Amino acid sequence: MKLIFLGAPGVGKGTIAKRVVKKYGLVQISTGDLLREAVKRGTELGHKAKKFMDAGDLVPDDLIIDMLKERLSHDDCSKGFILDGFPRTIPQAEALENSGVVIDKVLELAASHDVIIQRLSGRRTCTQCQAIFHITNMPSKQEGVCDKCNGELIQRDDDRPEAIQNRLQIYETQTKPLVEFYTAKDMLISIDAGKSVDKVFKDTIEALE
Ligand code: AMP
Repeated sequence: MKLIFLGAPGVGKGTIAKRVVKKYGLVQISTGDLLREAVKRGTELGHKAKKFMDAGDLVPDDLIIDMLKERLSHDDCSKGFILDGFPRTIPQAEALENSGVVIDKVLELAASHDVIIQRLSGRRTCTQCQAIFHITNMPSKQEGVCDKCNGELIQRDDDRPEAIQNRLQIYETQTKPLVEFYTAKDMLISIDAGKSVDKVFKDTIEALE
């Protein structure tokens, strides 16, 4: 199974993808997580990407495409994968096609802006294992501490109100055209992601089976 999860930041792509990879034994490839790792490790890519990420802007296509191709060359990808947060632009989608990777389905997770803003502003992310929590929808057992690895939970810089509006606008202008792109190829399934995590997960599995 080779899947793409498409949707605005904060809609729940990462959360649902984590459950789907567990159920089917797939690999989750989050370009956001890969970039945050690169920033943490202080690599050249991390240095180049940081200023775009902090502002909530997209990292340039060439950097992202090279990073993704490198990740897809790892052996574990032969089990099947979910691309979470890639592609985010038409040139990224075209580069993926041209690289010969055949995607089975594209799942669009859709929710209203109000729901997305509520999810993004309350999201907390583990600095160690990147697990995701939410201060009211999915709180950790101990405030500020990751349930999975005891790492510190923080609010990502780009989940602060100034960056959220910019990210949503970028989604509308640069990423939303991919809905049309994949609909035209008869690959897109749209899921109502405004519901509870359990319900969205159930609908996702039904859509895949
Ligand atoms: P995410 O964790 O998916 O919300 O990604 C966090 C940030 O990483 C985004 O706001 C972008 O700055 C950058 N990023 C992640 N994936 C991509 C992508 N496919 N294209 C461009 N920038 C990306």
